Amino acid sequence: MALSEITSNYTNLKKYMDLDQKGNVMAEYVWIDGSGGIRSKSKTITKPVKDLKDLPEWNFDGSSTGQAPGDNSDVYLRPVAYYPDPMRLGDNILVMCETWMSDGKPNAYNFRHDAAVVMEAHKGEEFWFGLEQEYTLLAFDGWPYGWPKNGFPAPQGPYYCGVGTGKVMCRDIVEAHFKACLYAEIQISGTNAEVMPAQWEYQVGPCKGIELGDQLWMSRFLLHRIAEEFGAKVTFAPKPIPGDWNGAGLHTNVSTKATREPGGMKAMEAAMEKLSERQADHMAVYGSDNHLRMTGKHETASYEKFTWGVANRGASVRINRACAEEGCGYFEDRRPASNADPYQVTGIMVETMCGKVEG
Ligand code: ADP
Ligand code: MN
Ligand code: MN
Ligand code: MN
Ligand code: MN
Repeated sequence: MALSEITSNYTNLKKYMDLDQKGNVMAEYVWIDGSGGIRSKSKTITKPVKDLKDLPEWNFDGSSTGQAPGDNSDVYLRPVAYYPDPMRLGDNILVMCETWMSDGKPNAYNFRHDAAVVMEAHKGEEFWFGLEQEYTLLAFDGWPYGWPKNGFPAPQGPYYCGVGTGKVMCRDIVEAHFKACLYAEIQISGTNAEVMPAQWEYQVGPCKGIELGDQLWMSRFLLHRIAEEFGAKVTFAPKPIPGDWNGAGLHTNVSTKATREPGGMKAMEAAMEKLSERQADHMAVYGSDNHLRMTGKHETASYEKFTWGVANRGASVRINRACAEEGCGYFEDRRPASNADPYQVTGIMVETMCGKVEG
């Protein structure tokens, strides 16, 4: 689409978006599909939504999303959280959903369910999570936005937290997404341009327990949805461009009541001990293609071996200098890839630190 067409479409659309809805609510039901992608569809609710209970269960054709066989294709959507909709405004909402099967079991890709079970069992620990979501913006042809066609930009160096033409790409999308998250009451805590040009980061958190996964998934939905309006593609691939270009991660900051209290270093050291025994289990749910990113270069650790250290960006887990000096706070698991499922990442963290629960 040419820019003039986009502009005139926007003017036309605005006329309709401003129409009175006569008391109805447009609810966008959002869920995760069979490949870690995001899907959504819209439902009319005939009065403003004040409580989760005001949102009915719904369903979709799971055979079209890789989530169910054709001969038993109904998958059910169960609302678990809702947020103000920054696109439609007013009483309209975005609804995060779990996926369930007709036999009463969670869908095979419903990773939220198990995570919620283990977190509920250990809620006395008061887990907080803050995740750093890195991603890359691509042009319609799949090459990073703003990169020379059939070529590469100048080597990495000026782009991280960069300012100025040629140093950053698509700041408009990033600004729009930041505002949209705030409007949606997602606890976005910041954003920055990354080391590779057209790569960005934002952080969500600290959030309590399962809320981190709900909010991060909804923030990913918003990012895709907004980039769509600007004609860019979002990729969460952990190593979008091979070679001397940084990969993308989902650094996972973790604390509990015990780590935040004076003397919390002791609880963090105990957590390191437990984490060191489950390297392979964690890597199994820390995203696909993560071995391409975790080469030990570009601020990553070894894929095979668990390490931790203070202020060490080459370790699996880093405890920042301020926390080490205060003797309490949180730690940062740097292993998860940008495409990891935050429900799985936060779920296994609680499981490893506090013990498995049969769900
Ligand atoms: P980095 O220095 O690794 O780039 P960022 O500033 O990008 O760190 O992200 C830090 C993240 O840690 C934020 O999402 C923030 O919400 C989160 N965070 C801060 N304090 C805590 C805490 N006590 N428990 C869990 N997460 C926390
Ligand atoms: Mn239909
Ligand atoms: Mn960061
Ligand atoms: Mn980063
Ligand atoms: Mn980090």
